[in-house]
Amino acid sequence: MEAVVLERQKELTIRDIELDEPLGPHDVRVALRTVGVCGSDVHYYEWGAIGPYVVREPMVLGHEASGRVVEVGSEVTHLKVGDRVCMEPGIPDPNSRATRLGLYNLDPAVRFWATPPVHGILRPTVVHPEAFTFKLPDNVSYEEGAMVEPLAVGMHGANKARIRPGDVAVVSGAGPIGMLQALAALAGGCSQVIMSDVVQPKLDLAASLGPITPVNAAKESLKDVVMDLTDGWGADIVFECSGNQKAAESVFEPLCPGGCVVLVGIPGQPFGFDVTKSQAKEARVESVFRYAHVYPRAIALIASGQLNVKPLITDTFSFAESVQAFEYAAHMPSTSVKVQIEVAKD
Ligand code: ZN
Repeated sequence: MEAVVLERQKELTIRDIELDEPLGPHDVRVALRTVGVCGSDVHYYEWGAIGPYVVREPMVLGHEASGRVVEVGSEVTHLKVGDRVCMEPGIPDPNSRATRLGLYNLDPAVRFWATPPVHGILRPTVVHPEAFTFKLPDNVSYEEGAMVEPLAVGMHGANKARIRPGDVAVVSGAGPIGMLQALAALAGGCSQVIMSDVVQPKLDLAASLGPITPVNAAKESLKDVVMDLTDGWGADIVFECSGNQKAAESVFEPLCPGGCVVLVGIPGQPFGFDVTKSQAKEARVESVFRYAHVYPRAIALIASGQLNVKPLITDTFSFAESVQAFEYAAHMPSTSVKVQIEVAKD
């Protein structure tokens, strides 16, 4: 089948690739419709690796996907041919200890699309377990369906924070994950989000999404703004979504005593934080690796109209333009958030 293949670092082609995918009894075959370009896809394209994950063989990119069911296995019960769906890209071993404990995102044997050596889904069809394939309500588009994957990260972050109604949250980093983290925090009950970044157009967009106060960290102090808005108490939750060393070093500054820091952004280079600053506030520090158990809730929030991901979909390319889409995403203008590729029309 014709796929978007990363041959090696910086070399991306659209070409035929042999992908033999038998349909198991609990699987569905999905014809892909919309695929989002993720920071990780772009990172593999530019660098050929993310930490220990190195692209050694040609690999199909893409993991944020929606599509339509075209074939179902003999034991499939909740999906049928024609259903519009989105898919969770990680398939854990159902018998692993992590999976049995409910921590399936942490299963060391998880097979995650477009994480070497597992192929991604920038291609016409994929076979996927029914258990990780979710029906889209009629009022949720394929474009929105392909946003469920990055939104799931924010949903998981919101769960980890254990938000209480009315909490004030800080989100540092206004990239796609930061934006979706802010939306998930608001949907989870936060009364307001204070969002910091150094790129003004991203902050302007963030401010249009809801009760979100933008803070340009190049011009003003995040801590000062937060203290101002909270009578000097601090934010209940700080979501670190920038992966930026400087931002992460000061992560406890805007936090209230007894507050929670959630580490969401994956740093390009390892960095540490000051334990004594954490102790002084008895901060609870949580971390996020992908997500688990949040897809149905993310889809329900989009369908209900309580959470709108559409303003974040800023650029769409056709499948034939996939290579341009990656070049564009690698040098994205500051007004862009999420690039999507339309693999096929319905
Ligand atoms: Zn992603």
